[in-house]
Amino acid sequence: MTEAPQRGTMRTDGPLAARSVSIVTALPGPRAREMIDRAVQSESPSLIHVYPLMVKQAAGCMVEDVDGNVFLDCQAGVATAATGHCHPEVVAAIKAQAENLIHICGTDFHYPGYGALCEKLAALATRLEEGAGVASADSSGWQVFLTNSGTEAVEAAIKLARHHTGRAHLIAFRGGFHGRSLGALSLTASKSKYRKHFGPLLPGTHHAEFGDLSSLERELFARTVSPDDVAAIVVEPVLGEGGYVIPPRDFLTGLRSLCDKHGILLVFDEVQSGMGRTGKMFAAEHFGVVPDVLVLAKGLASGMPLGAIVARRSTMTWPAGSHGSTCGGNPVCIAAALATIDLLERELCDSSARVGAHLIALLREGLADQPMVEEVRGLAMMIGVEFSSKELASAVAQGCYQRGLLVLECGDRAIRLSPPLTLTPEQARHAAEIFVRTCRETHAQ
Ligand code: PLP
Repeated sequence: MTEAPQRGTMRTDGPLAARSVSIVTALPGPRAREMIDRAVQSESPSLIHVYPLMVKQAAGCMVEDVDGNVFLDCQAGVATAATGHCHPEVVAAIKAQAENLIHICGTDFHYPGYGALCEKLAALATRLEEGAGVASADSSGWQVFLTNSGTEAVEAAIKLARHHTGRAHLIAFRGGFHGRSLGALSLTASKSKYRKHFGPLLPGTHHAEFGDLSSLERELFARTVSPDDVAAIVVEPVLGEGGYVIPPRDFLTGLRSLCDKHGILLVFDEVQSGMGRTGKMFAAEHFGVVPDVLVLAKGLASGMPLGAIVARRSTMTWPAGSHGSTCGGNPVCIAAALATIDLLERELCDSSARVGAHLIALLREGLADQPMVEEVRGLAMMIGVEFSSKELASAVAQGCYQRGLLVLECGDRAIRLSPPLTLTPEQARHAAEIFVRTCRETHAQ
């Protein structure tokens, strides 16, 4: 990895958030190489490390490594840095909370933030319901349980669904990613390497074809599991790790009808697609479908470890002590979440929709004549570019890194762009320019 250094054409000095791409060493640089060589000696070999990036600091959409190279971040800490890296309002909220109360345990005690965040998320779910325009027979409102991560929130959703329905079976979809603990992993079906040597997993989990409603009735209900035994159908309304795939609208409306017909809970895993990423607070809003349980994490607290399940009051029937968490809903993470939601509501959902559409248009235009690119798809800041082979997708992802643009692969042969929602039109233009140039130069090799 010793490509000639390339310098950006925009600002290369001043505060990091206002700087532009500036690659001043071969990548990885000498300090990064030395630090990484040392670190990997004691880190778990299960970590992936998609490229040899040793981050020193980050601000807004910019990331600086330990050698002074500055990257434009279009992966946002795997879609967590919704408000941009170290947004001043989020940092201020974290600092203020850390000076007053770092931890006391929300499962056993009360503190103001826990209730405030639950109230806020419940109100957002009510707004989702009102916006969907579907009259619900259930007006009991919504309640919230807080966790430390997306995986734990998925676990909580599984447990709640089993507890509430008294049924054991679960349905998820091929291509879906729901986390890596044994329950969540049982639902995950995006890559077999995540499951290899970890079985047997949760009995009673079944997978159908994402986007194909008929596969549930044809493959599952008719042959392997009665719908009366199914507690929950768990689905990402837009597939994340599995390739940033937007399903047809009637897939999700059809799932809603199937769940209503058979008394199954519909669980939307919006760990990746939620919190403004698709230009609306929740991806569900694009489809006019209201789930029974909404699973959130990642962008919820701008990268602080926090997850949540939001479920109807009439569904949250588990009694005191049946589920809890020592650190889930930690006050500092909650402060970050409240500041994050405020920013999303004030400006960032709108700007995600606007600048995301701009970025998609620039990519479509720039890549139109690229034979290696099969599709540019997405909603706002959740953008997938499908390549004709896995090798090309990997080469372009690595090439982007070498040119100062951070992106991630997903699916079988795609690249995802999931920038901070603070991305400016100018940064979108620069990201598209680097991405298109990388594709052209990869194609020419
Ligand atoms: N669900 C979805 C849709 C995800 O994308 C992820 C992580 O990528 C998870 C669940 C697991 O979340 P976490 O890594 O926070 O445990």
